[in-house]
Parts: sequence; structure tokens; C-alpha cells
Amino acid sequence: MKMLKDGLKGRATQLIATKFKLARIKKVSSIGRGWLAILGLCFSLCSLSGQPKAKKVQFEAEAALSYIRDLAADSMLGRRSGHPGGEAGAEYIAARFKEWGVEPAGENGTYFQTFTVDLNQVEEGVVLELMTTKVRRSFYYGEDWRVQAYSGSAHGTAEIVFVGYGLRDEKANYDDYAGLEVKGKWVLFASNLPSSLADKFGEAASLTRRVRWAQERGAKGALIFRREEPQPAAPARGVRLGLSREVYRPDFAIISIETRVVDALFRDLLTDLRYLFQEIERQQKPMSFTTGAKAFISVAARWEEKKPTKNVLGKITGSDPVLKNEYVIIGAHMDHLGVDPLGEVMNGANDNASGTAVVMEIARVLKLNQVKPKRTIVFGLWAAEEMGLLGSRYFADHPLVPIEKTVAYLNMDMVGHGSGNVNFRGIYYGPEVWEVIKAKLPKEILDYVRPGRGGPGGSDHSSFLAKGVPGFSINTEGYHFKYHQANDVVELIKPELLKKTGELVLAAANILANEKGDFFPPQRLERYHFRYQTLINFKFEPSVQVLEGHKDAQDSHVDLQLVRVSPPQGATGDALRVELVRQLMGVAEGVKKTNLVLFTGASELQGAMNQGKTTLLPGLRGIDVLKGEPRWADVLAKQGLYFILEEAAAFLTEGKISDEGKNILQAINQAGLLLLINRAQDDQIKEILNYAIKPIGIIAKELPGKETLELIREKGAVFGLEASSGAEPAAYVQKLLEARQALGSDNLFIVNGPCLWEKEGQDLVFQIIAELFKAKVESGELGNLLSGNFLRLLSRARGETASGPR
Ligand SMILES: [Zn+2]
Repeated sequence: MKMLKDGLKGRATQLIATKFKLARIKKVSSIGRGWLAILGLCFSLCSLSGQPKAKKVQFEAEAALSYIRDLAADSMLGRRSGHPGGEAGAEYIAARFKEWGVEPAGENGTYFQTFTVDLNQVEEGVVLELMTTKVRRSFYYGEDWRVQAYSGSAHGTAEIVFVGYGLRDEKANYDDYAGLEVKGKWVLFASNLPSSLADKFGEAASLTRRVRWAQERGAKGALIFRREEPQPAAPARGVRLGLSREVYRPDFAIISIETRVVDALFRDLLTDLRYLFQEIERQQKPMSFTTGAKAFISVAARWEEKKPTKNVLGKITGSDPVLKNEYVIIGAHMDHLGVDPLGEVMNGANDNASGTAVVMEIARVLKLNQVKPKRTIVFGLWAAEEMGLLGSRYFADHPLVPIEKTVAYLNMDMVGHGSGNVNFRGIYYGPEVWEVIKAKLPKEILDYVRPGRGGPGGSDHSSFLAKGVPGFSINTEGYHFKYHQANDVVELIKPELLKKTGELVLAAANILANEKGDFFPPQRLERYHFRYQTLINFKFEPSVQVLEGHKDAQDSHVDLQLVRVSPPQGATGDALRVELVRQLMGVAEGVKKTNLVLFTGASELQGAMNQGKTTLLPGLRGIDVLKGEPRWADVLAKQGLYFILEEAAAFLTEGKISDEGKNILQAINQAGLLLLINRAQDDQIKEILNYAIKPIGIIAKELPGKETLELIREKGAVFGLEASSGAEPAAYVQKLLEARQALGSDNLFIVNGPCLWEKEGQDLVFQIIAELFKAKVESGELGNLLSGNFLRLLSRARGETASGPR
């Protein structure tokens, strides 16, 4: 534990917090902890290992706890990869493996796989103080402000200049810096733009670009905040601005501050932050000024590149001459967050010394019992998970055992807190693997296992899923407190949870290493992506049919279903419109009685998907209902309508857009409905695009001409290429790739013609995915083509432009 530097003002609260922790650490160290303790541990384990044949070695919760105590000791400095602490953690684990006789599975007969990481190093002793004419205030690091990635150092007192959004664009004749001197000063600006400005400036408004402006004008550093109403319940801690490497300057500080810090600054000024932003948006012109307030900032930070680090790998080679060439991998990340800029060690006992310790104890038990599994069991302890799953991804990209011969990956992350059950997520992506495990797990274990759908995200199983290996995410169910805080310490770990998790994973690994199973179905990678991507059923079915026909929608592979509300035959005028509203309300009511979900936004769609539920997106076929009364578009949008599908001809007379067509198009755009134009010819597309205010979608079975494709891109419209029943997937993908050449992959989406609830539709989408893989389309782009672009189009039509440039 490093001491705080003396003489820093206004940090009483921090000092108290640190003292409290010092007291705790003293208590721990009085019974002798840290590196010396490892020797003692070694003795106790060696005595265990001295008598393996006499007695079966059990999974010892106390042993696992002792590894956590060592890994989460202050002497391990928070195990940050690329730093001495992270490397000490890796050496510690490898030393235990060696002691127990676990075979090395790293490079060149070692336990290690080395790679490099880039990291932001912030030295302890950071300070932020604001000085207005009336008062001097200091702010709490981590809660009030943070040093961002790619920040350099800065030290000293300087004036603060408010520059709105920090924008500058010559073409738009807009300059937040006009007439201001910012050389040697701090510039203060908001990261998130209103959509009116974001649309206007496009790329020029990227945050990286805006930080570069501040640097070019000679500022000392940037104070960046999110323009928002304060939300006391959800402080925006750990905010990441997502800047890129090009903004790094050794002597330019980049700091994010919370709204309450900006409010403290404005309290003594004769203006108001919300007023300024309101005026910027209303007048579309800068409202920058020199505040007269000052800030004292002291930050010592640097960007370090290519620091070596390493994964730790051990194994027990299989005994079956054939099956030993198949693998079961058990893993956990061993790294944590290092020492924070306040000088506090982030011990990371639960996150994730706990998972690491369980992997180690499983390795010890298997080895000392001289278990001879048929398949090879690999133990992987990953570095740099906290930097973005870097260690496991490096392994997956540079596997030391054949990844396509890996039966499954079992990942543990945070298994030391909770109420007593153990989550086992990933069964949707590896159903065959789960079936084999479930059939053989002893009942006393199965009783506390909570199987879940799973999927990528959150931890290292993602790296394996992305390669098609069924990856399971195992953690203890319930609340994990002190997450990413300095007090994630060994005293809070429940040993009985380590034991439960350990016995589950030990049993599962034994089962997978010995049992028969359909572990390598053909096209495992494509199957994973078919399940993982958001799949939209463009088959535009009547709402009644969907509500009644798909009662059990769980894991149907249909993530988003377009549903049709349709005007009844014969009805006209207001009676017809009222009937439509009634139908929309009926859908909302009907959904409540099913396992389906009504669309309210992309994040809710994601939530529903994670539970295996299908989301419905109501739309209308035809614009007849708006004839004479285009304003009804607004009413229908408010009642839950999202899009209108129509043929181009309905807007045109003699090839030109009609007055009525214009009015309706405008009403649809203004109401925030997405217009999808079906079966349009080139000239018709051009005519409609020229009058559309908002981006629209164009769906066709054949590619429009090059010029039309160009126009689609220019107008921000999106083209959906329809694959019809019986389509030849390779030919379809060929056409799609041609369209991509002209359009780029941001203005294109895949429309599956056949019903996705049925086998034909699923097979078609599956084969299209397989073809796209063959064409080396990466998974991110695949996601855009399958659904991402459509969803973005929908949200842009609704006026939900992303609140800030990414
Ligand atoms: Zn973790």
C-alpha cells in the first residue's frame, strides 16, 4: 500500500477512506500476509500433496481462499497487466502449477503466452480544484472526475474557457473558438451534441477531432462533460470518452468531469449552463466565453505502448490416444485494475482472484488425484481482461491448442459473492454441450445451478464464442458488491461459494473430458453467428396471426418480427383510422398475454433477445389511410406505429411526385415513422429521395443502377436487398457485395423474404451468413448488414440521432 502524498489540500474525505483501509490492512498483515505468506502456503499444500494416494483430494474452499488472499494482497498492486503487479500474479500462478505438477501449456514448454498491451498510466496524487471569484473547491477523483485514456500530464493553475461543444467547421462557418485566446488555458466543453448539430457537422464533430482543435489552439488541457440533467441516483462513474490514439500529447491533459463539477463552476457566474446550450441550439451559433474562473489541475499521466504481459496456461493431457487431441478449457481472468490515482490498491478479490483461485484449485485436485481424463483439460488464466478481454482474445487468435478441436470453454468471473446459486450461462449457444453436462451432473450440484441463455459480453467467454467454441459464463448469482472499488477484498469472499462453483466446474470439466457428445457439429462458427446476430423477420404478417400463431416464441431465432396492422376492407375515412388505432392498442394488449415483447427501442430489443423473446415492430401497409388527412401519421405514430411500407407508385403521378404524395411523405417523415419503399424503379427512387426529409428505406430484389445507389448513400437512405424464396445464397451474396461496393456497408441491409419462423427462412439466412463468412466479411459488418443498419435507420427516422459522436 502506497501512502498518499502529503500537502494536498481538500482531500479529507479521501484521507479518511484511505486510513480506514490502512487499518484493515494492518490487521491482515499482523497475521503475516503478502509474498512471505506464499511460502507458508506452499508448505501446507505440499503436505497435502504428500499423501494423494492415501486419500482422495477434495476441492478445498480454504485452499482456494488462500490463493485469493495471496493474489488480492496489497503486494500484488492490483495485478494490472503490463505492470509489475500483474506479472507477479502470473508468476505466482505458474509457480503453483509447477509445484503441483500441472503440465505447462504455454509457449516453448513454459506456462506463459506473452503478448503486449498499450495502457494509460496515471500516477497517484491527482488533483482538481476550481477557483471562482468567491470560493475554492476541490473534487473527488473517481466520483467527480477522471483522467481519460490518451491523456498526458498537466500541472498548474490556469483560466477556464467555456467553448460550448468545442466545435469548429469552416464549411459550416462555425467556430466555438472564434475571438477567444485559449493558449495555456483549460477549455471546457460538452461531449454530447444535440441531433441538430450532430447532423450538421457529421465527422467534424467527432470527439477526437474536437480534442485536436483544443490542442491546435494551444490549450493546456480539456475538461469534458456530458450535457444532461443531473441524475443523483446514477452517477456517471467510469465514463469513457472513446478517444483515439491520435489525441495523445504528453503535455495535454484530458479529463472528464461530472455535471455537478460544472454546476459548481457556474454557480458564481452571471450566466447559466442550460441557458447557454439552449441558445446554441436555438441560434445554431457559438456562445463561448472566458469564464474568469480558474482550475488547479495536477495530473501525471502517460500513454505506454507495447508493454509485455502474459497469459498463464497449464494442462492435463488426455489419456485416450484419439480424444486427447480434443480439449476442454477452463479459465478466468487473473488481472485487475492496479493502483488507482489516489494511491489505493484495487485488490480485485472477487473480480477476479476468485475465479482464478477456483481454476487453480481445480487444477490441483485433478493433478493430485492423478485423474486421467480422456480429453485434454487446459487451464487458462488470462491477462488484460479489464483492458478489453485482450488476453483471452490473444489466445483465441493465437491458440496454443487447436481451437476447432475445443469442446467448450468454461469461464469463471466473480464467484465469491452471492446468495448461494451459481449461474451457468451460454446454453443457447452450446445446447449440445449443456445437454451432456446436465445429464451427468449429480443432483446435489444441479440443484444450485441456474442455467441461462448467455452470449458474448462481460468476460473472456466472449473471445471463445467469437471463434464458434461454446463458451459458458459462470458466476455466483446475486449482488456483487464493491465491484471495481478499492474494497473488493478477500474478507468479503464467501468460501462456500468458491466450493460450490469449484465442484460444479470440476464435475462439468470431468464430464466434458470423458463423455461422448455431438461436440463438433458442422459449421459451428456459422451456427454461433446465426444465433448471436439480431435476426429480423421481414415477412410482414398480420398482427392477429403473429399474436396467435407464435405462442411459444422462446428461442425461436426470430428476434424482431415486423407485424402488420391493416385497414379492414371497405372501411373509409375516420372510421377506418379509428379502427387502426384500435388495432394498435389491441397489439399492445395482446402482447401482454404472450411471451412476445412490443418494440420500444433498440436497447429493449437487446434485453428481450437476452431472454430469448421475440420483439414485435408494428407497421402499416399502404398510405391510403393518410390520403386527405396526412396528419393522422402523427396520431398513429403516437399509438405505437413504427413504419409504413408502400410502393413507390403511390406517391407519383406520371413519374413525378404528386402534391398529395409530397404532403404524405412529409407527414410520415415528421411523425417519425420510417418509410419503406417497396419495388421501386430507379427513376421512382430518385424522385422520392429528392423530397424525403428523413432517411428512408428502399427494398428491392434487384440492385438499382449505380447512380441511384450513389444517391441512396448521399441521402442517408438504406437499401434492403431482398432474398426471395428459393434464392441461391451464393448468387444473392454476390449481389449484396456489389451493392456494398457502391454503397458502403452502412447503407445496406439483408431482407429475408421467406418466413424466418419456418425452416426455409432459417436455412436461407444461415446460408447467407455462411457465404458472407466465406467472403471474409467480419462479424461486426455482418451485424450491420443483418439488422444494425435497419435499426439505425429506424431510430434516425424517429429523430433519435445518437446523442454524441462515437
Ligand atoms: Zn472480471
